[in-house]
This record gives sequence, C-alpha cells and structure tokens, in this order.
Amino acid sequence: MIVLVVNAGSSSLKYAVLDSTTGRRAVTGDIERIGEFDGGAVDHAQAFGQVLEVLADVGVQPEAVGHRVVHGGDRFSAPAVIDDDVVAAIAACVPLAPLHNPAALAGIAAARRAFPDVPQVAVFDTAFHADMPPAAHTYAIDREVARQNRFRRYGFHGTSHRYVSRRAADLLGRTVDTVDVVSLHLGNGASACAVQRGRSIDTSMGATPLEGLVMGTRSGDVDPAIPVILARDGWDAAEIDDLLNRRSGLLGLGGSNDMRRIHALAEDGDAAADLAREVFCRRVTKYLGAYLALLGGADAVVFTAGIGENDPWVRSRVCTGLERLGIVVDPDRNGAPDRGPRRIDDGSAPTAVMVIPTDEELAIATECAETLARA
Ligand code: ADP
Repeated sequence: MIVLVVNAGSSSLKYAVLDSTTGRRAVTGDIERIGEFDGGAVDHAQAFGQVLEVLADVGVQPEAVGHRVVHGGDRFSAPAVIDDDVVAAIAACVPLAPLHNPAALAGIAAARRAFPDVPQVAVFDTAFHADMPPAAHTYAIDREVARQNRFRRYGFHGTSHRYVSRRAADLLGRTVDTVDVVSLHLGNGASACAVQRGRSIDTSMGATPLEGLVMGTRSGDVDPAIPVILARDGWDAAEIDDLLNRRSGLLGLGGSNDMRRIHALAEDGDAAADLAREVFCRRVTKYLGAYLALLGGADAVVFTAGIGENDPWVRSRVCTGLERLGIVVDPDRNGAPDRGPRRIDDGSAPTAVMVIPTDEELAIATECAETLARA
C-alpha cells in the first residue's frame, strides 16, 4: 500500500510517501519553523498545502494517510481509523500533550480536507504501552489526585519499540509471541521497554517523556523532591519545566546534547563530558537490569535510534559486567561499521545483543496498512 506518513510536530511537518511492504520512499520532506516570524508556512494547513504541491509534482497519489500522534491517553491501545469520534478522543488528550496533540490534529484536519476519499489512520506513540499491567502504569501517589489529573505511566516511542522488537524476533528466526526483548531506544529522546512475547509490560517514560533515562536535554529520573525544593525557592512552573526538559541531560552535564560532541570533549580530557556519558550509560544499565528482572531474563537486548545504532562506546559501556546476566558483547562485532540489523553478542551467552535501525515512518506505514486490512 502507498502510504503518506505525516508527522506533525509543534513547529514542523515531516512527511514521506512510501510503500508499506517494501519501505521504498517516493518522497520525503520536512517543513520546519512553521508559524515562526520568518518561517515558510504560517500554520500546519499552509504547510500541508506545500506537501500537496510536492506530491502533485512527482505524481504520487497515496492510498492511505498515516498520522503520527504522540498521545492516545488510555483510550487507544492500537492505531485507529480516523473519524470524528477519533478526532474528538485525540482532542481530549490535548491536556496530556499540550504541544504535540494540537499539531497532530491540525495535520489530520488538513489531510482530511485534502484527501476526503483516502482512509486515514492515527498511529499513537503511547498505544504499544496502553495494555501494560496496572502495577506497571500506576504511580504510588494519592489515587484521587492521580485520577483527577490522569496521572499514570503512558510511555512513548511505542512505534519504535514495537518495530524493533519484531525485527529482533525475525533476526532470531522466531515469532514475536515467543520472545522476550529489552528494547533500548537511545536518541535525543531515550527510553527503555520490556517487551514480553510482543507486548510492552513496562517502559521508562511515564506520564510525560521526561521520566526514565538521561536524554539529550532531559534529566530523566530525579528525586521528585528536587522540583519541590526549587518551587519553594521561588522557581515557577515554566522555569522548572525548562530546567528539566531543556537544560538537563547530556547538555546540562556535559555542555552538548550530541553524544558525538560529548565523546570528543571527554577524549580531550573534559571531566564534565566524561561524567555525562558515564551517568547516561549507568542509567541505561540500571533499566536494562530492571527489565531483565521483570522479564525473568530476555532472549534479546536491542539498541536502536541515533546513539543506539551508531555508538559502539555506549553499547559496550552499557553491557560491561553483565556476563552473569547472560550478556556478552563481542568487541569486533560491536565496533564493525555495519548498518543493517545485526547481532553484536559473542554467540556464547544466552541473551542476544542486537543493533536494529528503527524506521518510524515505515513502522507507521505498516501499522496503517495492517489497521486498514483489519477494518
Ligand atoms: P531523535 O530523538 O531526535 O529522533 P535520533 O534518534 O536521530 O534522535 O538521535 C539523535 C542523537 O543521536 C544525536 O543527538 C546524537 O547524540 C546521536 N548520534 C547520532 N549519530 C551518532 C554517532 N555516530 N555516534 C554517537 N551518537 C550519535
């Protein structure tokens, strides 16, 4: 199926037209700085008009449109064929994702106007995690406060965790419902996921994408009393949000949100950068250990996204000393400049270690086609 994948961010619109079976792209593009003073498009509707011109120029006509939607709340545990009810349900999740869901809604509205006869599917970052057991998604805070605010662990990066855990099963020559995987999505945003026989049973991001691993600019887990202390000292909500979401993580510790730069600094003797990468890796190892325990051991550990796919130093550091947990990385395989899905373990240990490039556009196109085939 030829699918137009639309990924509408708060100030950007990424799109691709691709074949959901082969993954072959007819077009890809990225419209940035929407709504900015000197940007090329005033809003998502106008940006979508530019997409239509590109599609007309190359002469492609999508058979379906797949929309990436960040937040599906607890309503969506699978992609949904878009109708007015689904649009209303996505709108009801705006308070949970105030920057992202309005952009997705704008993209959906524009696409429905442009392609009234083409089926459209919403694919949610949260859906893969929506069936996590209550013990995984419940915060140990006052139940009534949690209920009123819809506080629970939703998890994100679900499309990626689902995709790479399936590829991991393929690489083992087994069906997805027979393998347990710890998936480590390490990009600018980062999260870990325990995948039991094809289902997410726990994940490191929570009510928002701030929880869990150390990220490019986000702190991940901190003592929840820290923002309380700052608030008592007079910091307001916007300042605390800015600190934890935009001035922390690798950037806050090591001066750059780019792991390549952190390595370069560390190798030049910069102690802060060296500490930043150690804190980053230690957090990943802690989650890996936690998820191996939850799964009672895993068939595979998968590294994916910008850092996971390209950084042998991080992969090696994360897995160092885990022999007794069944994980042994082969240094040559880990360091080889290969690109595709591959194993980097030494073949003797019980748990496979893999690098699997994620492809969220292909995953969205595939989920879109599967959903329409079922509908
Ligand atoms: P996003 O979450 O924005 O989709 P990506 O998955 O593209 O992010 O990951 C981006 C990050 O990957 C960059 O910030 C950079 O730190 C890291 N990265 C990219 N290439 C390399 C590399 N060769 N070595 C180490 N890190 C890399």
